[in-house]
Amino acid sequence: MYDVVVVGARCAGAATARLLAGMGHDVLMVDKTRLPSDTLSTHGLIRGGVVQLSRWGLLDRVLDSGAPAITQVLFDIEGEPKVRRIKQRAGVDLLVAPRRRVLDGLLADAAQEAGARLRTGVTATGVLRSDNGRVSGIAGRTATGDHVELPARMVVGADGRGSRMAGYLGAEIVERFTSPCAVFYTYVIGLRPDTYEFHIAPDAFAGVFPTNDGEACVWLIRPTPLLEPIRTAGTGRTAAFVEQLELLVPDLGRRVRAGRITARLRGTANLPNYRRQAHGPGWALVGDAGYHRDPITGHGITDAFRDAELLATAIDRSLRDPAGEQAAMTSYQESRDAMAREVFDLTRALTAFPPPARFVELQLQLSDALEREAEQLAGFPGPTARLAA
Ligand SMILES: Cc1cc2nc3c(=O)[nH]c(=O)nc-3n(C[C@H](O)[C@H](O)[C@H](O)COP(=O)(O)OP(=O)(O)OC[C@H]3O[C@@H](n4cnc5c(N)ncnc54)[C@H](O)[C@@H]3O)c2cc1C
Repeated sequence: MYDVVVVGARCAGAATARLLAGMGHDVLMVDKTRLPSDTLSTHGLIRGGVVQLSRWGLLDRVLDSGAPAITQVLFDIEGEPKVRRIKQRAGVDLLVAPRRRVLDGLLADAAQEAGARLRTGVTATGVLRSDNGRVSGIAGRTATGDHVELPARMVVGADGRGSRMAGYLGAEIVERFTSPCAVFYTYVIGLRPDTYEFHIAPDAFAGVFPTNDGEACVWLIRPTPLLEPIRTAGTGRTAAFVEQLELLVPDLGRRVRAGRITARLRGTANLPNYRRQAHGPGWALVGDAGYHRDPITGHGITDAFRDAELLATAIDRSLRDPAGEQAAMTSYQESRDAMAREVFDLTRALTAFPPPARFVELQLQLSDALEREAEQLAGFPGPTARLAA
């Protein structure tokens, strides 16, 4: 019997497992995938995510991986670029965009160093329930096809956007909308290593996140129908992506063409945005499994880090005082929803791609919201402080 079984061992699951193991609980993470590995995601961290890494004592490890410190941000509004230095706020003065194989690997290592166990190649296929209906573990299948049952006092679904755990647990969707946007991205060598770039043009939002190995992630978000020519270009998809960039954001397009593209183009469209019931007797959801928004606000990893800490704190309280579980877990959901509200609404407004002047206003509101959030995260009361020691 584990104290906690966490299904999914990337940014939400591994962070939750690490915090819980650091609080003295017996934690098992399972993931169906081989880790560390990349996943479909760009990976620009905003200030709140960096604050969490810093508070957890992991920021130096991320920088030591070779992910460059981002010290300035370029905002280009219809061909008028402005560069701003990242100010010292909430305890950090840089941003960073580690490759997911680096970030997720580092988080899973840190969880194991704190005492959590990791089993990869295990797919959760259902949940165990005791006679009173309380969730009491998971059922799963190993890579060799064996059935396993893993009993636990608490089960955490951290299995991402397509969460099967949410279905097994019966977690209801409280709020939802479908994004009308699509995103494509690739990697390029030869761009500035210290600058996040955001370019705004009519019906287009493009950017650059410098990352490990001298590469930069270059992305383009637009209303889905406008990216159809790329999606349907077959083997010419990357060429079609560069052509759109040159047309919409000529300076960036030129630099991408002059650089070296090192990866195949990846992308996705019309992502679901939702908030799910976050807990029930013996279970909770964290990360994309419980709350998801379009990547236009670049907030998913920070959401995962924020909610990992809120949830670990609530589970710790519940395991130490089972009579207080309902109150602790309700407080987790309420805090998650309150802290996510503003960015969720801004995500919806931005994905509608209003004219550039309004898009810029929304970006400014987003920037204020992100700074306030970073300050709030920096002020989290931390049982985690000792992990950073
Ligand atoms: C195109 C795109 C771009 C993005 N860009 C950014 C960005 O720039 N910045 C940012 O902060 N966020 C970004 N995001 C969002 C970010 O990727 C997610 O919010 C983040 O990955 C959520 O982490 P997670 O741990 O909840 O889920 P995931 O990273 O999806 O991990 C879930 C894990 O669960 C495992 N799993 C699933 N089902 C099972 C099962 N049944 N049994 C066992 N294991 C299972 C999977 O193998 C996986 O490893 C982007 C997303 C997309 C799609």
